[in-house]
Amino acid sequence: PLTLFWFRRDLRLEDNAGLYYALKSDNPVLPLFIFDRDILDKLPTPVDARVQFIHQTITALQNRLQQMGSGLLVQHGKPLEVFAQILKNLKFAAVYTNHDYEPYAQQRDAAIKELLAHQGIPFYTYKDQVIFEKNEVTKPDGKPYTVFTPYKKRWLLTLNEFYLQSYPTEKYFKNLASPGVLPLPTLSELGFESSKTSFPGQIVPEELVKTYDQTRDYPALAGTSRLGLHLRFGTISIRQTVKSAQQLNATWLNELIWREFYHMILYQFPHVAERAFKPAYDHIPWRNNEEEFAQWCAGTTGYPLVDAGMRELNATGFMHNRVRMVVASFLCKHLLIDWRWGEAYFAGKLLDYDLAANNGGWQWAAGSGCDAAPYFRVFNPSAQFQKFDREKLYVQQWVPEWESSNYSKPLVNHELARKRAITTYKTALTNY
Ligand code: FAD
Repeated sequence: PLTLFWFRRDLRLEDNAGLYYALKSDNPVLPLFIFDRDILDKLPTPVDARVQFIHQTITALQNRLQQMGSGLLVQHGKPLEVFAQILKNLKFAAVYTNHDYEPYAQQRDAAIKELLAHQGIPFYTYKDQVIFEKNEVTKPDGKPYTVFTPYKKRWLLTLNEFYLQSYPTEKYFKNLASPGVLPLPTLSELGFESSKTSFPGQIVPEELVKTYDQTRDYPALAGTSRLGLHLRFGTISIRQTVKSAQQLNATWLNELIWREFYHMILYQFPHVAERAFKPAYDHIPWRNNEEEFAQWCAGTTGYPLVDAGMRELNATGFMHNRVRMVVASFLCKHLLIDWRWGEAYFAGKLLDYDLAANNGGWQWAAGSGCDAAPYFRVFNPSAQFQKFDREKLYVQQWVPEWESSNYSKPLVNHELARKRAITTYKTALTNY
């Protein structure tokens, strides 16, 4: 029999925990990837750069595995049905994979585990995506942290060499199965078209990371790593990334800890995927004006920094973190539009889209999340523009008409919108 290793958000051969344990099992290892119809069918358009990125990565993985005399079994369908089919055709002794903490993934994995258990096949899963998961970093009484700073302190205290050791899969590549040449569906067979998006590389210049704390807040400077996409799909290892952060820049490490914090929050408080972390915030009477939402999406609100951010997102699938905070705050506070609308829009566009981080960012901006900005602090989008795009380079790039008479008039007046937001929040929260 074979051992099956199932790739999901860990699309690499090196330093991959689940693959390592699979390779150390007693049987030859056949790697598997499933283009999951349950996920693909929910995507709003057939031109989705993320599917293209996955396809490209899977193609490269298959080529590499073939060069080593092995291969990658690529399937296309609903995972439960795919497994039921595989069970009919192949004899295998165990399935290995890495943990996925999203609510959908947990349900999917539970169903597959059960299906396999009926045939006496074990389903082994490992931590790979984060340094600390689930309840590995908790308060002394075992309860989860809901505030970032004490979480981070405990995270750093818990960290030692052991957690950053890489899994030397390459020592065991000889245990890969030799299945012969395996087919790979084309992008169009999956129902998608290619886009012109260019993907950021995996290698980040050391100089960039070393000066991250000084440059990261200025969208015109390209002072951030752009590793979000690679961390999302596991085309780089978090252990290696944290090791270089430790050596190069504490502020950058801090951001990687935010990533772990939001993963932990989603795991411990799965209701955040649908509702506010703080229940009182589910009672805010959002205005939800569809026309205003459309203007926000298109980047025609008349606020240059907001518009630049949205246009950057629409054109490239990326938006700078500082600007993400500004546009998100603008939507929730200035326009009083439900943060879930913004969350869904970002989910459809961001190359680095990740449920935990996106949800955390949106709930932070709406004030409804753990350790969020207090509701009465409303970002001033014009002041943010002055402060973080002093030379106007970023806005000039994305909204070249911003100083001309062709440019949209502000959708709302800042001072009025700020007061309206505070009153609306205050009334809803005190009446709750
Ligand atoms: P860098 O600044 O170089 O940081 C390195 C890595 O650390 C990032 O790639 C990311 O994995 C992680 N990281 C950095 N900041 C955060 C943060 N605040 N929270 C969690 N992880 C962080 N990040 C996502 O990865 N996916 C999302 O869908 C996402 N949606 C967001 C939505 C909103 C409203 C906001 C305010 C933030 C969101 N972020 C999201 C966090 C942050 O904006 C991005 O991680 C960052 O801009 C990605 O750029 P980079 O890869 O150059 O990151």
